[in-house]
Amino acid sequence: MSDTAESGRSGTDARRRIPRTDALLSEPRLAKAADELGRGLVRRAITTAQERARAGEITPEAVADEAVALLPTTASSLREVLNATGVVVHTNLGRAPLSRAAVRAMRAAAGNTDVEFDLAEGRRARRGRGALAALAEALPEVGGVDGVHVVNNNAAALLLCALVLAPGKEIVISRGELVEIGDSFRIPDLLAATGARLREVGTTNRTHPADYADAIGPDTGFVLKVHPSNFRVSGFTAQVPVARLARFGVPVVVDIGSGLLRAHPRLPDEPDAASALADGAAVVTASADKLLGGPQAGLILGDHELVRRLRRHPVARALRVDKLTLAALEATVRGPAPPVRRFLDTDPETLRARAERLAAVLSRRGVDAVAVSTVAAVGGGGAPGVELPSAAVSLPVDYARRLRTSEPAVVGRVERDRCLLDLCAITPDADDRVVEAVTRCTS
Ligand SMILES: *Cc1c(COP(=O)(O)O)cnc(C)c1O
Repeated sequence: MSDTAESGRSGTDARRRIPRTDALLSEPRLAKAADELGRGLVRRAITTAQERARAGEITPEAVADEAVALLPTTASSLREVLNATGVVVHTNLGRAPLSRAAVRAMRAAAGNTDVEFDLAEGRRARRGRGALAALAEALPEVGGVDGVHVVNNNAAALLLCALVLAPGKEIVISRGELVEIGDSFRIPDLLAATGARLREVGTTNRTHPADYADAIGPDTGFVLKVHPSNFRVSGFTAQVPVARLARFGVPVVVDIGSGLLRAHPRLPDEPDAASALADGAAVVTASADKLLGGPQAGLILGDHELVRRLRRHPVARALRVDKLTLAALEATVRGPAPPVRRFLDTDPETLRARAERLAAVLSRRGVDAVAVSTVAAVGGGGAPGVELPSAAVSLPVDYARRLRTSEPAVVGRVERDRCLLDLCAITPDADDRVVEAVTRCTS
């Protein structure tokens, strides 16, 4: 202690007045929080507040209020983020935000639910049949629920295909489709981990029907067509379409990636499940949390006999999805268009008008904010060449860090030494929250 005797004594007095943990835990607001969040998290807030009082940063009388202010909003450390990056499906930010209908469905299923039980008959029923039925109805091309299976993610869907269709056999794949899906996970490595052998054909930029024909034989388990969803090879290129691959007489598995059930007018080059099935794919696999706009899941759609074998494989049990996912998936498919679809369908003029309004409000509050036109991206391994015209609020660059660490966190992107808050992946009803977050970061 380097305090003088005098300040040391008053410091000691102040420290003596700091409320004790027991007393704080019975303070009404903190006691209520302990019921909702658990005692551990409340204790942590209390300890931090007491430390601040001990360090002289706050008065002993302010400790209870400080502890209340430090309480987290939920018992999970995952924090809400407003995605102002201009990337509609951002993997690091949890991909697709769920629709309200999906959130409500998850909440309703969060307790006990009839996920695997027939209430009328009082006996076991097919797990997740509501979600399977929703997908089958949205996609008549699969010919009913027996053509649908749902697993943990698209990687799991591919894993299951390799385990069932190519044990000890070859998976024929174009060299132009040997894709790394992010965080250094590679589809070829995933498939090889099952013991299947990869038979690479063609070259990075061009693969022809004859390349496949030369490779296909008795050792072939299936032909895999992977959508190179996060990059684009342009120029002198050639790929073999699904309809041509289907004529080789071996199963064709098509990994469409982003989960479009049908073609979308703004994404002309993005493959969709309906077209792949119509073109003769035996099985289509996709993510549910990209352009479909639902929870993390992998969709397996296709031939009933193959889907039945996939479902029955012992590993299927290790890849199954939980009731919350099934609830959210069904509500996404049946319910109103999820946020991702609405983001894709918003016209740039509307976005620009919103950006102008936000910039005007912020300018009146003394913030150096201007509306700018931007180019946003689909992201999340989808539509790599597609540029989405969008709009953003442009702020001084030092806002980037402050907004990222605010509550809720707002994650923008830095471009030419400005912090851009792109509105393409922000729902209009969250605009005012963006304004409030920027305002709080200004004082
Ligand atoms: C995103 C993607 C995957 C991985 O899907 P997950 O659902 O993240 O497992 C696989 N293949 C393609 C083509 C993709 O775009």
